[in-house]
Amino acid sequence: MISRVFRAIILGPPGSGKGTISSRIVKDFKLTHLSSGDLLRAQVRGKTDAGLKASEYIERGGLVPDQLMVDLILNELKGLSSVDWLLDGFPRTVEQAKALADEVGVDSVINLKGKDDVTGELLTQRDDDKPETVLARLRAYQNLTSPVTDFYRDLDLLKEFTGTESDKIWPEVQKYLSTVVPPKS
Ligand code: ATP
Ligand code: MG
Repeated sequence: MISRVFRAIILGPPGSGKGTISSRIVKDFKLTHLSSGDLLRAQVRGKTDAGLKASEYIERGGLVPDQLMVDLILNELKGLSSVDWLLDGFPRTVEQAKALADEVGVDSVINLKGKDDVTGELLTQRDDDKPETVLARLRAYQNLTSPVTDFYRDLDLLKEFTGTESDKIWPEVQKYLSTVVPPKS
């Protein structure tokens, strides 16, 4: 039995409903969810070297240095070589995207362009959700992460979805993925 792996990335600014859509995707299409934010927070909790280095950046809403982030993610993906996955929160810079492309191929990149009024994702407060931190994250997104969409558009991998409500965007994402995710046997 030959089974093909499916690898996807989800991109979208803070408040785009990325969290909501990601959890629906991984549930519906049985993909392993790898969230860079969750991975970092686990490192911080575990007080690993990476976690200690990363925490000062996270607290300020800045991006963790590319090399640290790339090492963490690639190491995690090594253990997922034969499973279908959805990468969430990475890559956040073109440098990260290039480093990923050097190691693994991806099949599809989903870009969410709306704002989530329904689930109000930004209302979920974390320690790093102070107003100035949120602003810094939005700025980092504008400057560093939006060029990542161009990187994948040029590779013809980008699939964009616009909307203000997760419940409206979701059927579109679902319809699209059902055409590209290989059926599980
Ligand atoms: P979203 O609202 O889209 O989930 P977020 O701003 O809540 O985004 P997380 O993905 O939860 O962000 O990440 C939290 C923090 O971890 C970021 O603000 C950043 O400091 C760091 N981080 C996460 N992913 C990366 C990455 N790929 N590169 C650099 N830093 C990262
Ligand atoms: Mg988040």
